[in-house]
Amino acid sequence: TIKELEDYFISINEKKFRAVQVYEALYKRRIKSFDDMTNISKEVREKLKQDFSFYKIKMLIKQQGKNVNKYLFELEDGNKIESVLMFHDYGTSICVSSQVGCNMTCAFCESGRLKKVRNLLAYEIVQQILQIEEDINKRITHVVLMGIGEPFDNYDNVMNFLATVNHDRGLGIGSRHITISTCGIVPRIYDFANEHTQYNLAISLHAPNDELRDKLMPVNHAYPLKELMEAVKYYGQENNRRLTFEYILLNGVNDRPEHAKQLSKLLHGMNAYINLIPYNAVDEKGFKSVSHDEAMVFYDLLMKNHVRCTIRKEHGNDIDAACGQLRIKEIKKEGI
Ligand code: SAH
Repeated sequence: TIKELEDYFISINEKKFRAVQVYEALYKRRIKSFDDMTNISKEVREKLKQDFSFYKIKMLIKQQGKNVNKYLFELEDGNKIESVLMFHDYGTSICVSSQVGCNMTCAFCESGRLKKVRNLLAYEIVQQILQIEEDINKRITHVVLMGIGEPFDNYDNVMNFLATVNHDRGLGIGSRHITISTCGIVPRIYDFANEHTQYNLAISLHAPNDELRDKLMPVNHAYPLKELMEAVKYYGQENNRRLTFEYILLNGVNDRPEHAKQLSKLLHGMNAYINLIPYNAVDEKGFKSVSHDEAMVFYDLLMKNHVRCTIRKEHGNDIDAACGQLRIKEIKKEGI
């Protein structure tokens, strides 16, 4: 972050505004080597060379679909991560990964097939954006943390990543254009609420009662709905924000009329809305997606029960773009 760079320059008896100069070189001019930092004296550049290194994650695969690109990257230690780029009429959004693997083991999600190997460092998340911007030769306007990993299980790196993305000397992407999605790690929701950032927060709900949510999302054992809802309400009050819940429609599992009723009870009195997500069917998981008409029935029931909701437009189901799908396919090919 710019703050860390400022501390570094102070520690070597340099002016702290050098941090801004480094940021400008990295994120505005997109320089690729220390010698390209022509706005910084040669002496300081030599010092930077000793203390830092340029490191790029490697783009291994790019798949192109209709208005969607999916990328597989290799990290320096050989681990692989994926990112998805979507072209919209309002701009371009990127879905970045925050961890190698994921420990949350949601029943319907492919990402958790590989347990968390490690957290991504802030720059490894930033690099996903830089490289894709270079690939498409266009600026990315929106960022969502909905790739592989649980962002709130890698809280500090994710916050540092966002600080750089959001900083006007960094990538300059506005906080209202940034969305963090969490499966509901309650203590981190409180931490996040207390930071008073303006990033959007989305909660993966996917079930309206503990019995079903325990089955679909094991994180619910640790942080059941009552605790989750309290934390989310606290966040909403502290930050004066409307609450967003994600809800994948799984055929016959969480899309019955009683589920719509339970949802409306759960969200009663909250300034909230539900984003209904068509399930992107994953081989071997056994869940089925709903048809558009079935989704509409659920949508109507929610609206009738005074729950505001939208149905998310599907992107990328022609190219394995649901969480973890591309990575798993490549690993299968390699026979690991
Ligand atoms: N760990 C975070 C962010 C990653 S997943 C979280 O749980 O929110 C981003 C969203 O995609 C989550 O709501 C997740 O439940 C959902 N998701 C996972 N697999 C999916 C699939 N096959 N089809 C549709 N949505 C999926």
